[in-house]
Amino acid sequence: MLSDRAKRIKPSPTLQMDAKAKAMKAEGIDVINFGVGEPDFDTPENIKEAAIKAIKDGFTKYTPVGGILPLKDAIIEKFKKDNNLDYTRDEIIVSCGAKHSLYNIAQALFSAGDEVIIPSPYWVSYPEQVLLNDATPVFVKTYEKDSFMLKADALESHITPKTKALILNSPSNPTGLAYDKKTLEEIAEVVLKHNLYVISDEIYEKLVYDGVEHISIASLSKEMKEKTIVVNGLSKSHAMTGWRIGFAAGPKEIIKAMTSIQSQSTSNPTSIAQKAAVEALTGPQDFIGKMREEFDKRRKFLVSELNSIPSISCLVPTGAFYAFPNTSALYGKSEKISSSSDLALYLLEEAKVALVPGSAFGDDDYIRISYATSMEDIKKAIERIKEALQKL
Ligand SMILES: *Cc1c(COP(=O)(O)O)cnc(C)c1O
Repeated sequence: MLSDRAKRIKPSPTLQMDAKAKAMKAEGIDVINFGVGEPDFDTPENIKEAAIKAIKDGFTKYTPVGGILPLKDAIIEKFKKDNNLDYTRDEIIVSCGAKHSLYNIAQALFSAGDEVIIPSPYWVSYPEQVLLNDATPVFVKTYEKDSFMLKADALESHITPKTKALILNSPSNPTGLAYDKKTLEEIAEVVLKHNLYVISDEIYEKLVYDGVEHISIASLSKEMKEKTIVVNGLSKSHAMTGWRIGFAAGPKEIIKAMTSIQSQSTSNPTSIAQKAAVEALTGPQDFIGKMREEFDKRRKFLVSELNSIPSISCLVPTGAFYAFPNTSALYGKSEKISSSSDLALYLLEEAKVALVPGSAFGDDDYIRISYATSMEDIKKAIERIKEALQKL
C-alpha cells in the first residue's frame, strides 16, 4: 500500500523520546525531561504583541509564497549584520521552520543516485530528508578528540563523482560544539575543489558561549557563498519553535526552485507568524542575551556534574543547549546495559530521567542531554542519575 519512500522513512527519535516522557508525566510520574529540543523560555512579549496586532489588522490572508518583503528585508539585514553576507530578495526564502527550508533544499538539489555527505554524529532529520528525496546519505565519522569537527582529509576521502553536497551544522545538535575558522577554511578548500554544495544549518548561531564566535562558511569567500545555502530561523534564537518560521539564503536559481516547490506544497508560512518574525528580527534583542546567560549557567553546572560521575566524560560544549557525554565506559558494566539506548531506557525507568541515546544521532558511545530545562530540574536529575548508576 505505502510508497517506497514512506517505507524508507523513520519517525524522529528525538520527538518520540519527548512524547514518551510527556506521556509518563501525564500519568502522574515525576519525569525530568532531558530530551527536549526547544528553549524552555516563553516567546518575548513584543513578538506576541506583533502577532496579535497582525490578527486584529486582518493580516490573515495568503502572502507571497517565499515571505513578505518586510520579513525578507529584515532577514537580509540580519545576514549583513551578523554574518557580513550580502543577499538580495531573490536569494532569500522564508519557510515553515528551518526544517522546512532544509526539506525544500533537498527537494531542489537531490536526485536519485546523488550522494550527500553528513558528518556523524548528525541531527536526525538530515539522513531522512536525503532518503526522502531518493539520494544516498554518506556518513563521515567525527571524533571527540577533534571536538566533533569534520576534518578536510576525511571529507575528501569520502567524495566520489556522485557527491552533490555536504551538510554542516554549527553549533551542532547533538554535540553542542561549533566549528572554528581554520577547520571551515580547510573544508571550504575541498568543497570548492570538488565543486560541491554546502548546506549550512546555523540555527544555533545565537547560542554560543566562552567567547566563541559563530562563523558561517558562506562568509569565507565569494566563491564559497556561491556554493552555500545558509539555513537559519527563529525557533531557537527567539524561543519560537511553535510559530514555524525558518529561512534560507543562497544562489538565486536554487532559491527560485525552492520557492516553486513550496508554492506547490505549503504555500506561504503563516501570515501572522511572519509579522511576529519581523518584530523578532527588528525589535529589541536583549532577550537573546538573557536566555544565553541562563543557558550558560546551566551548561557550566551540568558539565561539571557530569564529569564528576565515574565512567562518564563530557567535552565542554560551546554552543546550542546540549551536552553530549561519552558513556561508553558504562556499557557492559551490567547485563542490562550494552548500548546508549539500553542506558537511556534504564535511566528513564530507574531515574525517571528522559534523554536521547547517541545511537539516534549515529554514535552509540554517547547520550544527548538537553539543558533547556530549569536549574532545579537539572540538579534533581543529576542526583537521580548518580543514584541509578551506582546500582549498576
Ligand atoms: C531545531 C533544529 C532545527 C529546526 O528548527 P525549526 O526552525 O523549528 O524547523 C534545524 N536544525 C537543527 C540542528 C535543530 O536542532
